[in-house]
Amino acid sequence: MVTTILNADLHCHSVVSDGTLTPEALAERAKAQGVELWALTDHDEVGGQHRAATAARAIGLHYLTGVEISVTFVGQTVHIVGLGFDPDNTALKAGLTQTRGGRNQRAMEMSDGLARVGIKGAYEGATQYAGNPELVSRTHFARFLVETGICRDTNEVFRKYLIEGKPGYVPHRWASLKDAVGWITDAGGAAIIAHPARYKFSTNEEFALFSEFKSHGGLGVEVVTGSHTAAEYLTYADMAIEFGLAASRGSDFHSPTESHTELGALPYLAGSLQPVWELLSHRIQAHSAPGPTSAVAH
Ligand code: AMP
Ligand code: MN
Ligand code: MN
Ligand code: MN
Repeated sequence: MVTTILNADLHCHSVVSDGTLTPEALAERAKAQGVELWALTDHDEVGGQHRAATAARAIGLHYLTGVEISVTFVGQTVHIVGLGFDPDNTALKAGLTQTRGGRNQRAMEMSDGLARVGIKGAYEGATQYAGNPELVSRTHFARFLVETGICRDTNEVFRKYLIEGKPGYVPHRWASLKDAVGWITDAGGAAIIAHPARYKFSTNEEFALFSEFKSHGGLGVEVVTGSHTAAEYLTYADMAIEFGLAASRGSDFHSPTESHTELGALPYLAGSLQPVWELLSHRIQAHSAPGPTSAVAH
């Protein structure tokens, strides 16, 4: 029987997107924090997957491939996590390349917006922080504005400069929900709605998101995530059951100094939920450390 009592952390970011640690350092940190099953889920990019899987296996961590795809749904950005797919799948990689494509132009426009309120050189500043030139994100702008003393922390940068209506915000059209779910599913993985409580949808729009996601072949929803409150764990546990979706668990860790949730430091999933790792047991890359090799076959 597969248990919900597993320290699975299936959502975090490395320098390959907007995290500050390498895939190898994240693997080490996850292991040290007691994580048993791990996935690196960089934004719109699978370039770190082989490194993460190799590092995880070498230190005794079970691994699932991961990605977090940016999607536009009824005018808002929604994140879809993919788990357990083939990272070399051609159509998935082409879809992600296309999704990353607009980021550089957007970054230049963000910089223009910031220049209009007196903040110069933000494009050059932000790209210096980007480990992957194809993945300049708002997080990199936030780090630049903190480093230059314009704001105290990244939260303040987002609030004052990077969210809708603020000078550095540039609207962007990401992948469609159907495409993102299709790329993940066709590559053998499971599509998961990331941190559902973070979106500003009406009840009807949220219902549409879950229904359409499910009709496109989506399989799960993040219930326990670093960006949900305890009350939201309950709300989305109910939603998972209502929509017949499996449940996922992940910190959304980005950095030792910026993230409020440490790798693996989350409550377990409720026993009434079906964990996504049950659906993906055949896709888990087991580690080669001595001792019991199956952390998931309790
Ligand atoms: P982008 O994909 O370039 O739009 O950047 C989105 C990223 O910004 C998210 O993945 C988070 O890492 C980060 N982010 C979004 N909102 C906030 C916030 N309020 N405070 C700190 N980081 C945020
Ligand atoms: Mn991020
Ligand atoms: Mn996200
Ligand atoms: Mn994330």
